[in-house]
Amino acid sequence: NCKTSDDVIKAVQDYHISFVQFWFVDVLGTLKSFQVTPSELEAAFEEGMGFDGSSIEGFCRIHESDMIAFPDASSFQMVSWRPTERPVARMFCDIVKPDGTPYEGDSRYALKRMLARAAEKGYTMYVGPELEFFLFENDREPSYTDLGGYFDAPPLDLGNDIRRDIIFSLKRMGIKVEYSHHEVAPSQHEIDLRYDEALKMADTAITYKVIVKEVARKHGCYATFMPKPVFGENGSGMHVHQSLFKNGRNIFFDAHDKDGYSLSAEGKSYIAGILKHAKELTAICNQWVNSYKRLVPGYEAPVYIAWARRNRSSLVRVPMYKPGKEAATRIELRSPDPACNSYLAYASMLAAGLKGMEENYILEPPVEEDIFRMDNAERTAKGIDNLPGSLIEAVHCLEKSEVIREALGEHIFNKFIDNKKVEWDDYRTQITDYEIKKYFPLL
Ligand code: GLN
Ligand code: MG
Ligand code: MG
Ligand code: MG
Repeated sequence: NCKTSDDVIKAVQDYHISFVQFWFVDVLGTLKSFQVTPSELEAAFEEGMGFDGSSIEGFCRIHESDMIAFPDASSFQMVSWRPTERPVARMFCDIVKPDGTPYEGDSRYALKRMLARAAEKGYTMYVGPELEFFLFENDREPSYTDLGGYFDAPPLDLGNDIRRDIIFSLKRMGIKVEYSHHEVAPSQHEIDLRYDEALKMADTAITYKVIVKEVARKHGCYATFMPKPVFGENGSGMHVHQSLFKNGRNIFFDAHDKDGYSLSAEGKSYIAGILKHAKELTAICNQWVNSYKRLVPGYEAPVYIAWARRNRSSLVRVPMYKPGKEAATRIELRSPDPACNSYLAYASMLAAGLKGMEENYILEPPVEEDIFRMDNAERTAKGIDNLPGSLIEAVHCLEKSEVIREALGEHIFNKFIDNKKVEWDDYRTQITDYEIKKYFPLL
């Protein structure tokens, strides 16, 4: 448990650590890493480590490519999937420019800046994500490793030993797990993390994904966070539970809520903020062409913009496991998938929620019926709108968003949109198996 650079340098000596990995992410949340030898550490803490930013997606142009990574001592951990002899450790980094100011293209900085805005009002954001994933035989095709379903136990659940090893590996890196289980689709799993402060949790989500993939590989299979790998089965989501605390109190909680949700006025307008800006949030929380194959009716993933207490077809849910319990009061956003950039996703959700609070948005009543069973007319009558149906629709909603532009900053906002337009153009010109099967014999 290191706090300062001196703690880190001492731990590196005490544990005979051979390398320290410096971690950061590109604009899509892809992990980037370089290895630093222990002799360089002291200088790294003082002056940072220089690298070429021009080859990192969403960073900078060639002529201004010198970037400096400053390690965050408090994130120091031994890497639990590498050999214990001559071990390796890692730290997350903040990226700065040669003039010493934070780099606008750094996702971690974007989240920090948004959290600082919340902190000015006294708020701390807590987040608990549920990252679902599939375990397949290999990384070439989605071939099942088991045919289990929701909460199935062994022998149907063949991922049990792998999940067990993943949990031990997470624990060795100080990551607390609440529970784990087989998910609805064959070969699909979920491991739920204990909630934590948003920045810490965004870092943790990166570590979680690496551990899941590395442990699966050791067991001879392949783990993927692809949002919808198999047609006709549930996709993988990342429900994000969130709450704001002020002076040690959960400000979403009100024991005397006359509507009976145990939600405060702040909690309600936070939800209203998420709902009102839901279309703008979607490209950030669902950033791939494939993400939109998950957001379709019938697979427990949201399609319509509404909230509920229990109803799992809704976009936002207020879990009612422990009604009236302050610490457990939170909202659950169900649209994000685990292949998003958590730093940008948390920053955007917070921005939307805070906007709702600042402007006292009104929260419409919950929709407890199954929205998938309603027809269009019924949904229109109830004023229920849809999430964007494709990446390009979502990008068009994002482009118009002042809230998200402000939350992420001009640089990330523009780089992200440019990148996604290129992806869409690449996708829309492909000729898919579906078209060959359907049209080739016919036309
Ligand atoms: N896999 C579903 C999704 O896409 C969620 C299923 C669940 O957690 N009950 O979000
Ligand atoms: Mg769950
Ligand atoms: Mg789940
Ligand atoms: Mg959930």
